[in-house]
Amino acid sequence: MDLPLCTRCGKRPANYLRRSSGERLCLNCLFRSIEDTVLWTIRKYRLIEDGDRVGIAISGGKDSLTLMYILGKFRRQGKIPRSVELIAFSINEGHPYSCFYRTSRLDYVQRLSEEFGIPYRIYTFKELFGVTATEVAHGLWSRGYNVHMCTIDGVLRRRAMNIIGRQLGLTKIATGHNLDDEAQTVLLNVLSNDLERFAWFGPAPMLEREDFIPRIKPLRFVREEEIALYAYYHGIPLMELECPFVYSNPRYNLKFTLAAWERDNPNIKYSLVSFGDSLARLMRDKAANVQLRRCKYCGEPTSRDVCRVCELMSNAGLLEKYLAHLRTLKLTDTQSPS
Ligand SMILES: [Zn+2]
Ligand SMILES: [Zn+2]
Repeated sequence: MDLPLCTRCGKRPANYLRRSSGERLCLNCLFRSIEDTVLWTIRKYRLIEDGDRVGIAISGGKDSLTLMYILGKFRRQGKIPRSVELIAFSINEGHPYSCFYRTSRLDYVQRLSEEFGIPYRIYTFKELFGVTATEVAHGLWSRGYNVHMCTIDGVLRRRAMNIIGRQLGLTKIATGHNLDDEAQTVLLNVLSNDLERFAWFGPAPMLEREDFIPRIKPLRFVREEEIALYAYYHGIPLMELECPFVYSNPRYNLKFTLAAWERDNPNIKYSLVSFGDSLARLMRDKAANVQLRRCKYCGEPTSRDVCRVCELMSNAGLLEKYLAHLRTLKLTDTQSPS
């Protein structure tokens, strides 16, 4: 039996049905359309421009590796300015199930790094915070605070990106969030009745805040399954081990909910993200008037009295240790002229 031909090129047999548009695509046209979508996102929202120094946050999963690959390729092709600096980095959380260990295809990152001339560096929670995620978790759990490991990792990782961004002089940090991640975020915000959070949602640097490095998400309009196909056929390693903490992560269940809804409405993920973006625009205007404060312990920008990191550290009984570590960091900052 002959396969139907690709609806785009009309030449090659179609291998993939894109249900949201009804197109049947050959792999060639699928991959071209994925790259076109990423480039469209970068240009429409001005994610990367002349003079930018962009950090690429590498978790080691297929999304961030695909991001590094595509950005490297775009720069080489001149699709993004050749003057743009790209710097990749990973954050090692320092527990046996950390995203870093689970996915540490360092050999592959090194290869991309050499192939596209993108410097790569690994940071650890220990060097950034003076403590590991395990220490924080044990501190919290032994004091009766029921905080999910993924929450601890997430809060510390977001802060870590800011610290790294300032150290490296980055103008933006690109993350590998895809359409599915973004749709889940919208649902999570709605389900937890958290309207304020939408002020931080969206494709582009939204809130211009002092000391806060804007995050960009060039893959946010590409479905996860299409990234997986892209990765597989480009020799990008797919994550083999699922994080053992994932099963109790609220996102995990939403994945299946969304997949079930998508059977009736193939556009549902796009609808959710576009709804989130509309809300983000409304919330941003509101948030622009909110004065950002400084955490009374660490001095980082926060909307609250005490930032989330210091709150976690304090509940874990590690605040003193953390602040002492910050002081030594500042000391070495002023000592070395670099
Ligand atoms: Zn085709
Ligand atoms: Zn703080």
